[in-house]
Amino acid sequence: MSGQPLRTILIVGGGTAGWMAAAAIATVMPNIAVELVESDEIGIVGVGEATIPQINLFNASLGISDADMLRETQATYKLGIEFADWLEEGHSYLHPFGAFGVPINGVDFWHFWIRTGGRVPLHEFNANSVAAATGRFAKINPPPPPNSPLAKLFSAFHFDASLYARLLRRVAEARGATRHEGRIVEATRDAENGMLTGVTLADGRVLTADLYLDCSGFRSLLLGETMGVGYRDWSRWLPCDRALAVPTERHEEPILYTRATARAAGWTWRIPLQHRTGNGYVYSSAHVSDDEAAATLLAAVDGKPLAEPRQLRFTAGHREEFWHGNVIALGLAGGFLEPLESTSIHLIQLVISRLLTLMPRSLPATGTVAEFNRQSVKDYEGIRDFLLFHYWANRRGEPFWRERRATLPPDQTLADRIALFRETGRITRENNELFAEASWLAVMLGQGVEPAAYSPLADLVPEQELADIMAMLRDTTAQAVAKLPFQAEFIRGLTGV
Ligand SMILES: Cc1cc2nc3c(=O)[nH]c(=O)nc-3n(C[C@H](O)[C@H](O)[C@H](O)COP(=O)(O)OP(=O)(O)OC[C@H]3O[C@@H](n4cnc5c(N)ncnc54)[C@H](O)[C@@H]3O)c2cc1C
Repeated sequence: MSGQPLRTILIVGGGTAGWMAAAAIATVMPNIAVELVESDEIGIVGVGEATIPQINLFNASLGISDADMLRETQATYKLGIEFADWLEEGHSYLHPFGAFGVPINGVDFWHFWIRTGGRVPLHEFNANSVAAATGRFAKINPPPPPNSPLAKLFSAFHFDASLYARLLRRVAEARGATRHEGRIVEATRDAENGMLTGVTLADGRVLTADLYLDCSGFRSLLLGETMGVGYRDWSRWLPCDRALAVPTERHEEPILYTRATARAAGWTWRIPLQHRTGNGYVYSSAHVSDDEAAATLLAAVDGKPLAEPRQLRFTAGHREEFWHGNVIALGLAGGFLEPLESTSIHLIQLVISRLLTLMPRSLPATGTVAEFNRQSVKDYEGIRDFLLFHYWANRRGEPFWRERRATLPPDQTLADRIALFRETGRITRENNELFAEASWLAVMLGQGVEPAAYSPLADLVPEQELADIMAMLRDTTAQAVAKLPFQAEFIRGLTGV
């Protein structure tokens, strides 16, 4: 296949990863033939219900509207994540999407807030936090002017992952992607160049392509099993290795945020959808038995369970290469980071846009593959450090949590970031790092890391002027949010139900 133009792609797997890839490639590159094989017998992992705002860009690129999402995936809006009991029992904070206040004379707002001794809670300067607390939300169309507090109201979705895959399948097939139903029993490689040559289904059909996307889930059928690419295991830093998931009946109006509550050996999630609530316990099997974990989860849910808890097993980390030869892994086939900050679906989105950006004309493409792998590893490392920080900065007493405090991060980057914030109140963001300054600020303050100082430039604004600006920012945010409808009204307006 050396030097052959790239004309066909076979996607193995029809979970969120497979159908996201099929829909995006069929939309953006209609000149490439996209085929997808999935097995109803094996099914999909089916969890993955919380997202981050970048999902809006993905949907928009496919022409999927909010009304489509709300109607077809039972979605609700998400404005952030509440972390309950993470610092210590009884303490909680919100990590909202979006910025706090606005820079004053080019200096980040929070330096002024530190200067005032944090008298007014920082969240009063963040539209997402105010909206989340009051249950009010709307997407304003046309978008509000940049100086409106609502211009910084950023939302994502909570949705039913199986229904999202179904919606994407419809989009992909409408744009020419072909689906094959069947279980792959064998994948073969060229003895000389090591490239994947095809997959064989249980009924004997053989499917071949120029490029293969491994979206086969945790098994990593093509990249891990067939191409033999190893796994970089991060369980030393992120030891949670199991989850129990259980849906429950909805018993209240959906709230506008995901709730993540720390437990003795991990944390539970609560994700409100229109038709039900998604719940789960992510835990370390070295610190709690499966039975105890199930009991903790069932005691924590607040609606009637709709099924028995389902267990999922995983190891934090990623494949040593995401692209090897003519195989690229997306989703769980490429790696796993626990869903604490709802990043897995976003990681799929990143790989798709990276592939579309770097798509070679032919294979092999050694330089492209190296760059693709370098960027993909960076994504994982950046998110890993953010997750690790939530665990490291805790004051809880159980062995699991004491061990998290005592575990040093894998490299100096995280330690330096914490030290910089403590000393100066400053937060730096590396190029393209997913979590921006506001996210680090929310979680650092939430996890009890206090800055000892702030930028000297923040002293240059006279005291009364600063007080007036801060009062204006707080008041305009509260007033703008108060005019929004409640989420349920807004959803009804868009869906007509
Ligand atoms: C407990 C838990 C909670 C999560 N929560 C979130 C969250 O809130 N937010 C978020 O962004 N992400 C979350 N994730 C991650 C998210 O679920 C996944 O990233 C996403 O669902 C993508 O899964 P996938 O498509 O890679 O794999 P899967 O859904 O497992 O799909 C694999 C596909 O491969 C097919 N397949 C496998 N073997 C074969 C074979 N031999 N022949 C044919 N077909 C085959 C299967 O039939 C299936 O179609 C969570 C994950 C877990 C484990």
